[in-house]
Amino acid sequence: MTHQLCIYNTIRRKKELFEPANPPFVGLYACGPTVYGDAHLGHARQAVTFDVLFRVLSHLDYKVRYVRNITDVGHLENDADEGEDKIAKKARLEQLEPMEVVQHYMNAYHRNMDQLGVLRPSIEPRASGHIIEQQDLVSRILKAGYAYEVNGSVYFDVEKYAADHSYGKLSGRKTEDLLSNTRTLDGQSEKKSPLDFALWKKAEPQHIMRWPSEWSDGFPGWHLECSAMSTKYLGETIDIHGGGMDLLFPHHECEIAQNVAGYGHESVRYWMHNNMITINGQKMGRSLGNFITLDELFSGNHKLLKQAFDPMTIRFFILQAHYRSTLDFSSDALTASEKGLQRLFAAMALLEKMETFSSGVVNAVELEAKCVTAMHDDLNTPLIISALFDGAKTINSLHEKRIAIDKENLDLLKKIYHTFVFDVLGLRPAGSKGEDDTLTADLVNYILNLRLAAKARKDFETSDQIRDTLQQMGITVKDRKDGFDWEIN
Ligand code: ZN
Repeated sequence: MTHQLCIYNTIRRKKELFEPANPPFVGLYACGPTVYGDAHLGHARQAVTFDVLFRVLSHLDYKVRYVRNITDVGHLENDADEGEDKIAKKARLEQLEPMEVVQHYMNAYHRNMDQLGVLRPSIEPRASGHIIEQQDLVSRILKAGYAYEVNGSVYFDVEKYAADHSYGKLSGRKTEDLLSNTRTLDGQSEKKSPLDFALWKKAEPQHIMRWPSEWSDGFPGWHLECSAMSTKYLGETIDIHGGGMDLLFPHHECEIAQNVAGYGHESVRYWMHNNMITINGQKMGRSLGNFITLDELFSGNHKLLKQAFDPMTIRFFILQAHYRSTLDFSSDALTASEKGLQRLFAAMALLEKMETFSSGVVNAVELEAKCVTAMHDDLNTPLIISALFDGAKTINSLHEKRIAIDKENLDLLKKIYHTFVFDVLGLRPAGSKGEDDTLTADLVNYILNLRLAAKARKDFETSDQIRDTLQQMGITVKDRKDGFDWEIN
């Protein structure tokens, strides 16, 4: 297979030609959400970014196994090794079982991702379902000598590891700098060094989520699950591992150290990170009052929003920026995206009506090349969109001037828009349910054509029955001289 897909490899800080270890198979792992709250724009950006990668790889005929985890245990407050488990805390505040909290927010996350047109991953493993695999990795790291046990907890020995391997190569951080930026331990901590991180934590008596182990009744450290579950489902060599830039340090840096210590080698061939979202130029944060959930965006129910936005507008807005650039959100920017998306689909609707004629004024081959080149260039979605807008402008002007287009170019144009808009970018018109809508329309038209045939042979009983049944289903049929019209009530 010869593809020119280049992706930016965070660890080597350059764009590289993508070559899977075992083509045509590709193992893709992206860190999923910690399910203790509603999904927000940050979740949307990460999920849409890796959804486009998943779509592009599939479009290039790779057989992709896409693993995206659900963190349902072990992620403590402030991403630290002290403090309460984020999910346990929510459960305590809402008087629920931790797994009720997990189920609630996981369902909501799935619903939001479906709304955004994000394809479901091939495997969605949960940390709580992989305790044995995580304990196995802790044992391996202990055996290799890069971890130590204190009072039933096991910590990764970063200084020991850094003496033998390069710690910080992904994030570019140095242990000396990290140490000088960290307050010295006050004697309260069990850790040898403040850089060390928990692989296994002994549970306090009040801690609900706990599992027996040879070290203590406890729970795994947050970074451990991704090392253990990516290895379980993708093997010791993973083609692409991704996540948001906020996960680069310490989460992914710790994952590398765990894999090297536990399996004897680095596992990930390409690291990919999407950049963050800012809101009116500011970092998004609950404490800053500019925190917007996806449900608030879809309903318009937030003080920073002037209107409700369709999930597809949010998706289009995200794709209008390159995934490695920061993306600044504002209500006005979303309104502009809404108009842009409408323009794109208006041009696509015109394509369906366009008459063909030999003229050669449109060079669809050139447009296709632009889209393909942009896709191969580190998933340059804004360039794909701008090429599609250029094409839309041409389509509009041909339509206005009533200039026809030759069949070959028209067919290619339709194919380009179908491929890039639907398959690669994963867009659909705002307010539609995508392929479901097309299927419904095809079925209703089919049934109504059967009804026309019934009328033609004067079988009015069948004809009326079809009309009445559709009416009961909420579809109103209007007869016309030359056929029919229908609408969903
Ligand atoms: Zn992870």
